[in-house]
Order: sequence, then structure tokens, then C-alpha cells
Amino acid sequence: MKRIAVFTSGGDAQGMNAALRAVVRTGLARGLEVYAIYEGYAGMLQGGEQFKPMTWDDVGGILHLGGTVIGSARSKEFRERAGRLRAARNLLLHEIDGLVVIGGDGSLTGADLLRREWQELVQELVDTGQVSKKMAARQTALAVVGIIGSIDNDMFGSDITTGADTALHRIIEATDAISSTAASHQRTFVVEVMGRNCGYLALMSAMASGADWVLIPESPPDVDDWEAKMCEVLMKGREVGRRDIMVIIAEGARDRNGKPITTEHVKKILEDRLHEDTRITVLGHVQRGGAPSAFDRNLSTMLGAEAIEAITSMDPNGEPLIVGMQGNKLTRTRLDVALAKTKAVADAVAAKNYEEALALRGQSFAESFNIVRTLVRALPHEPTPGQRRLRLAVMHGGGPAPGMNTAVRAAVRIAIDRGHTVLGVRNAFRGLINNEIEELEWMSVNGWATRGGSELGTNRTIPKGRDLYAIARHLEEHKVDGLLLVGGWSGYESVLELYNQRRNYPAFDIPMICLPATINNNLPGTELSVGADTALNSIVSAVDKIKQSAVASQRTFIVEVMGYYCGYLALMSALATGAERVYLHEEGVHMRDLVEDVEAFKRGFRRGKRLGLIIRNEKANEIYTTNFMRTLFEEEGGDLFDVRQAILGHMQQGGTPSPFDRIFATRLAVRCVDFLEQAIGRKESTGVCIGQVQGDIVYTSLDDVPRLMDYDHSRPLKQWWMDLRSIARVLAAPGAAGQDEETRG
Ligand code: ADP
Repeated sequence: MKRIAVFTSGGDAQGMNAALRAVVRTGLARGLEVYAIYEGYAGMLQGGEQFKPMTWDDVGGILHLGGTVIGSARSKEFRERAGRLRAARNLLLHEIDGLVVIGGDGSLTGADLLRREWQELVQELVDTGQVSKKMAARQTALAVVGIIGSIDNDMFGSDITTGADTALHRIIEATDAISSTAASHQRTFVVEVMGRNCGYLALMSAMASGADWVLIPESPPDVDDWEAKMCEVLMKGREVGRRDIMVIIAEGARDRNGKPITTEHVKKILEDRLHEDTRITVLGHVQRGGAPSAFDRNLSTMLGAEAIEAITSMDPNGEPLIVGMQGNKLTRTRLDVALAKTKAVADAVAAKNYEEALALRGQSFAESFNIVRTLVRALPHEPTPGQRRLRLAVMHGGGPAPGMNTAVRAAVRIAIDRGHTVLGVRNAFRGLINNEIEELEWMSVNGWATRGGSELGTNRTIPKGRDLYAIARHLEEHKVDGLLLVGGWSGYESVLELYNQRRNYPAFDIPMICLPATINNNLPGTELSVGADTALNSIVSAVDKIKQSAVASQRTFIVEVMGYYCGYLALMSALATGAERVYLHEEGVHMRDLVEDVEAFKRGFRRGKRLGLIIRNEKANEIYTTNFMRTLFEEEGGDLFDVRQAILGHMQQGGTPSPFDRIFATRLAVRCVDFLEQAIGRKESTGVCIGQVQGDIVYTSLDDVPRLMDYDHSRPLKQWWMDLRSIARVLAAPGAAGQDEETRG
């Protein structure tokens, strides 16, 4: 493998640029020649100028841009064999040995076809004298690797596709804005989101926005007169005091008989039957626009690097592959298999086999659908007679994290819907000590899905000594059967304290579960915590602005981010912003590193670099503080560059939760209620923390926590994301492969 070409095709998706950058830079670092084909298959057919060799610098400064800088197009001609013949000729003329295609299922189908016809096409080109035998002999095979770029998240082979997370960001920005105006006027909004065959965006945005009704292609309403059912639910919502009503419809929504459900139809129903003042918002291309989210930048970066690994290690005559991400792990799937499974869902929907369609989408999609069905209810189900009705306490502990309210809302509604009583503890363990406990009703948590901060209140108090008596008394007084903590490390430590004191205090002998919610992402038993994604996005958008502020100057920024002793936010934000250097406590900071880094920056600025970016974890090193680094770089940089520091501070803990955090918080909270119900049913005095590991929800016993944690630094001993350091290093390394750096301007 000597020379590869990369192109973007079909509908554009945010994150395509990050994937392009990673393909080009990882490829160059591997010693490959990398071409970009501009304008997708249309460019491949045109050849000539549309094939351009890429340098390190050509893909600098594009991480934060939406769309694709090498253009995308739809090509009718490529669908015809004659078109693919021309494409093959251009690939031969440019001596391309392998293709990395970034696009949706259409584009990937096209690539699969081209690869299958390759030998025939080459033979025909030789037979008709369009290419020489010698040229054809050099390229008997064409290696193909695909990266799914699709905001719809409608393809198999990856849990989530490039662009889907950002599209959810755009939808949530819109629905949050609509909710507030709808509430002011007591209006009803019908919002249409993209997704012809796939209800992913509609379903997830309904979960994240707290919408009141959702219609998706895979699971049409299960009764013929669904309009009556919808009206009944929405009317009840009004009766119990909901000021805003929102119905979310996927573009491809249909009824049981396969008849499309349009926004106009829903509006008419709501106006005629409920006399609601109803407005329609079709979000359209807004969903494809804007800066990619932190997640999409990092996902696409990892997929781009993995595509190079795949293409350099595969048999060029072998099956085309797509690279994907399944539960934080990079995966490779045969392209034809992924395409066939994707088509099966569309076929099932077309054949009105809705159960099959929903099942094919997978367990987590179906689970989300059921959660949304409960959460949208205006009022809980009537309890079944004879059912055991539990008293569950829910509380926070630790610093504030966006998504805490979302988790509480889901837990409260799910528990009440199952007939239980939920007690909200105000002000974390301080409140539990002071008996600040009150019952939460269905409507007490209305609107909490989207709200940042912490409505119940949180702090870092850890109960000690006499506090435990008070807590035991209050738990007994309120007859608490089970406890849910939504919080960070000091919350976990407090629950652990109660758990360990069970012998001395019978009141603590109840099932307890901890739900990870902290921006630091430093908790045991989980790869991710609620709040970290929001914080990461806040950091990334701040750094984007900081970089823009320095367009014309020769300047280096040192940005200090939170995370306590955990470097997750620092590393992930460095990856998402293209920082050249990141300092983590886990790796330590040494004088020789600093000296080397100063030298590297000086070399860079001497060669014409205009902007430098360093990200530093707040606790990276006690002695070499951010201020120390600033003065060191300033002094050593001399006339070559100046240095500014930015300490981002508490903005990182605030803000409305990101779609990912809302969805994650909701899914975890529902599982926590399930867990408590079951443990109480079995009369188990158990304590666990819930989390997500490699895509699966897992429960870790509190007995195991001490073994998993580095107590001195409040972080897990093993942190999965540390493996990503090598990618960050390759992609941003100043002067890697003799090239120039990311932040050239
Ligand atoms: P997406 O890749 O986003 O699904 P499209 O379905 O429009 O977008 O596909 C993009 C391009 O890929 C098409 O314009 C066409 O050139 C090519 N393509 C799509 N489907 C096929 C097919 N079945 N055979 C050959 N080429 C195809």
C-alpha cells in the first residue's frame, strides 16, 4: 500500500472534517501518500484537479468546522456502470491503491459496488485501450474502508455515526428554545426532525427534551385511532398544569398501515379536537449545520485513525470494511454485512413488520422507546392492587454536574409510575443529617429534563461520627426502603460510609445505588459519568473562541481545565481542539518535558506557526502551575511568541446538559429504580454503583470500590481513555513526519 485517497460523499455530517484530518495525518505519519478526492463521486468521475495530494497543513484548523472542506456531492452518473468505469480509470491514473470513503449508506453502497466490479472494470479499460496493461497490472486490487458519516445514525456497524451527536445538539438547542416560548403562551409545537427510515434522532431528542409525544418510523402508534390516544394524553397534561406541549415527529413517521404522518395532519388534529394554538417547526438543514460537538470530533478522529490501521493491515483483495465504535471500542465490520442489516430495517418498515424493525434496531433502542413512553405520560398509571409500594429516597452528593436534574426526573417518574413513593433529600448529606426530606410528586420534576444545576441541591459534605445517628434516625422516620445517590466522588464516599456501618446502624441495611454524575469522570465502575460530556462541550467551545481571538498574533495559549486529579477532560478537550500539548497528573510534568516543549514551540514559530495551544489539567503538577508555565514559556519564547493563560473555571460545571448527558442520565436512572425494586424484593442489603462499560450497563459492588480507586487522587486506578494519548500525540505532534503543526492559523 503506497497511495490512498479519501473522500466525503452524500449528505454532509458534522465531524467529517475531523475524520478527514485524522485519515490524512495518520496516513502521512504511516508513510503513505494521501490524496483527497474533492466533491465525492462527482470528483472521482471528473479526475484531474479533483484529485489533490494532501499535506499535514492542508487539514490544519478544520476540526471545528461543520460540513466538509473537500466538498460532497451526489452523482447520478456513478450509479451507472459507465460512470464507475470513468471513476476506475481516474483511480488507476492516479495510482490509488486504497480508498477511505466517508459517507452514508448510499455512498458506502457505491464503494462496495465499485470494489466488487473492480477487476472487470480494469479489464474493460485495458480492452478498450483506455489504460495500459502495465498500469492495470500495478493495481489489481482496490482496498476499501468506510467511515459512516450520517446524522441519522441509521447504519449498522457503529453504535453511533459521525454527525448524529451534533445533530442532537442542534435539535435540543431548538426544542429548549421552543419550550420556553411555548410555555409563555401555553402553545403547542409540532417539531419535525430528520430520519426517513430511522427514528433515532426523534426518539433521543424526545427523551432529551422531555417532549410529550413522539412518532417514529420503526414503531407507529399501536392503535388505529392513535390521534384520539395522543389527544387524551396531551389534554391530561394540560389539566395537571403543563404549560408547553411538544410533539416530535421523525420525517419518515407513519401509522400502522404505512400511511405517512405529516406535521400538518398532527397540527390539524390538535387544533380541531383540542382547540390548541398549534405551530409547526421543521428543523431541516439546521440539523446538519454548525460546529461539530466534542463527541463527534473525537469519534471521527478515532475512526479516521482506525481507518488507516485497517487499510494498511487488510488484504487488498479482501472484503471492504467499515470501522465503527461499539461501546467505547473501535470495531471493524464487513461492509456488505453492515449494508445488508441496514437494509433489513428499511425493508421491515416498508413491509409494515414494525416489531421486527424495532427489534433489529437493537436492545437499547427498544429500551429507550419504552422509557420515553412512560416519561411522556401526563400522570402515572394507577397502582395495581396488592402491589408492594416502596419508599425510595433520592439525593445528590459531590459537586454540581449537568444532568443531575435529568436523572432525578426520570427516577421520580418511573418510580411513581410503578406505584412507589419518592422522597427527595435536599442539600445532599447535609440535608439528610438535618432531615430536609420531602415527597416528590409527578409534577414536582416537570421541566427538570433540560435544566442545568441541581434542583435538589448538592455539596461535598461527608457524614462522620454523630452525623450517622441523625441519618439513621431520619431514614427510619421516613421508612426509607432504598436509596439512590446521583453524584460524584464525595457522594460515593458518603454512601460507602453508610454501607460500611450497616452492622452498627440497622437503618443503613437497605439497598443503595450510586449513579455517576460528575464532570470529572473519575468514578469507579463506569467509563463515563453524567455531566462530563456537557463540560467537555463547554471547554471545546471556549477554546474555539480563544483560538479565534488570536488569528493575527503569534501567541500561545495555556488553557487550564477542571477534572481534579483526573485528566479525562484535559485529554479529550485536547483531542477535540487539536492542542499540541496536554499536561496530565497521570503522566506527571517534568522539567525536561517543559524544556523540550518550549524548544518545539520555538521551532514551530520560527517556521511560521501563528498559534500555539496547550491544555493543562488543574492539578497536573503542584509546583509547575499554570502561571509558572505561562511565565516560563513567555520568557523562553522571547520575541518569537507571547503567552496567555485562560483558566476556564466554574463555567465547566454549569450550562444546560448536553443531549448525551440527558439520555445517559435517563437510561441510568431507570435502571437504578429497577435495581432497587429487585434488591428490596429479594430483601438484600446490597450496595452498588451503576455504570457503563463497553456499551453495557454494569453494577459494581461497593465492596469492590476500594480496590478500584486511587483514593489519594480520587480517580480509578485504571482509566480506559489513557489509551487515546497515542492518537492525540500523533495527530497534533508539532513537526511529526517533518510537517508543520495543527494550529498554523
Ligand atoms: P448518503 O451517502 O448520505 O446515503 P446518497 O444516498 O445520496 O447519500 O448517496 C451518495 C452517492 O453515492 C450517490 O449520489 C451516488 O453517487 C452513490 N450511490 C448511492 N447509492 C448507490 C448505489 N446503489 N450504487 C452506486 N452508487 C450509489
